[in-house]
Amino acid sequence: MRADCHMHMVLDGVDWKSAIARHSEAPDEGWIHKILAHYRELGFDYLRDGGDRWGAGKRARELAPEYGITYRTPLAPLCKSGHYGAFIGKKYENFREYTALVSQARAEGADFIKIMISGLMDFDCCGRLTEDGLPPAEIRELIHIAHEEGFSVMAHANGARTVEAAAASGVGSVEHGAYLDTDALAAMKEKGVIWCPTLSTIGNLRGKGRFDEAAVRGILDTALENAAAFAAMGGILAPGTDAGAWAVPHGSLTEYELLEQVLGTAAKDALTRGIEAVRNRF
Ligand SMILES: [Zn+2]
Repeated sequence: MRADCHMHMVLDGVDWKSAIARHSEAPDEGWIHKILAHYRELGFDYLRDGGDRWGAGKRARELAPEYGITYRTPLAPLCKSGHYGAFIGKKYENFREYTALVSQARAEGADFIKIMISGLMDFDCCGRLTEDGLPPAEIRELIHIAHEEGFSVMAHANGARTVEAAAASGVGSVEHGAYLDTDALAAMKEKGVIWCPTLSTIGNLRGKGRFDEAAVRGILDTALENAAAFAAMGGILAPGTDAGAWAVPHGSLTEYELLEQVLGTAAKDALTRGIEAVRNRF
């Protein structure tokens, strides 16, 4: 069976605004049934949603058992006001507001907490992020507060120092993880952090003409090299496509292809181990 450890039911891989509009009044059950049926056809039995504030993932979790799928969601991802993530998440200004959102997530039945602690890759410029990560001390406190409520934490995190800080603080999984160095990889390995490199979000841009092709190739090569180095250290990699992101349709199999390229003959065992780790932790 397959798993996607990072997807977004609310999005469609084409246009995030119109995708979200579909669920703005209430979760669109027709859409959710169609997507869950598609995953079942492709042999997926575990989905971990990256969250949305309209309840699409929450409704999907309720419907997923009909399709033999275990579905986990943080409900809405949490992002700091003025930073990346506001298009899909709930915003907080300070730790007090963040703590209240974590308690609310607990009361509303979130399976884990998803935090956004860095910018995105600039797909036109290899090596550049759209903004710096939050300060390490702040990252530590965010993760600590979620742990106090008994939650595991999934973190959207790019950049070596951001990921290193999240790993040192006991984050459960790192999502994307662009531009890591040996120290960041070693910190993840040492703390048993699961890394979902979401290679599909880069790989699926190849040949689309939307971004600079040489930059896309460079970003992908860097990510593949880091994933290979992490696997060689014995780190835990898990397949997460970020399905719903632009050019990443639900059920995209690019993540499996690229991870198999990275892991070679060890791929089957390594991916089974990664999926097991996600299922146990989230
Ligand atoms: Zn995502």
